[in-house]
Amino acid sequence: MKSEMLLPKVLIPEAKIKERIHDLASEISFDYRGKDVTAICVLKGSFVFFADLIREIDLPMACEFMGLSSYGNKTTSSGEVKVTLDLTEPLSGKHVIIIEDIVDSGLTMQYLLNNLNARKPASLKVCSLLFKPEQLKSDIKLDYVGFKLGSEFVVGYGLDHAGRYRQLPYIGVIENERH
Ligand code: 5GP
Repeated sequence: MKSEMLLPKVLIPEAKIKERIHDLASEISFDYRGKDVTAICVLKGSFVFFADLIREIDLPMACEFMGLSSYGNKTTSSGEVKVTLDLTEPLSGKHVIIIEDIVDSGLTMQYLLNNLNARKPASLKVCSLLFKPEQLKSDIKLDYVGFKLGSEFVVGYGLDHAGRYRQLPYIGVIENERH
């Protein structure tokens, strides 16, 4: 069998992601004009989105990295989150934007917002490339959203399935993966 036959089906093509990122970056640059921002990349899934987004944002910026991993099974979050890598700088008095790849139940984001708010930033907003509104089980607000999805499990553009597919340049679906 040819290897391309195993590739996930394209859901959001590369060109559409690029276009949307350009718009999100313009919106963020406008909203934060005159301010310095701290952008937090939530590892691992957000690294591709983060790298593309920050290069389109026209603001003075510090980049920070935080590693999170959910204690749920492969496709469902339990809401119990483990910090695998913490920030190296304090957030007190800073304008912070969390850059996330996907918000599904929202439990991970709720944990992260509580965790970061406790560090007393001047402001804290969320930018997520993908959002599954029908799956949301928490009371969180997303300030910037790239694309809304249904309940399909997606991969590519940083997102994995069992460690694979992160390098795909598009968002795709593996058939038969639903939750
Ligand atoms: P939550 O349910 O807490 O909002 O999401 C927890 C984590 O589950 C996300 O950060 C992401 O790592 C993973 N996740 C949720 N939906 C998907 C999906 O469709 N594809 C992939 N690859 N991961 C997902």
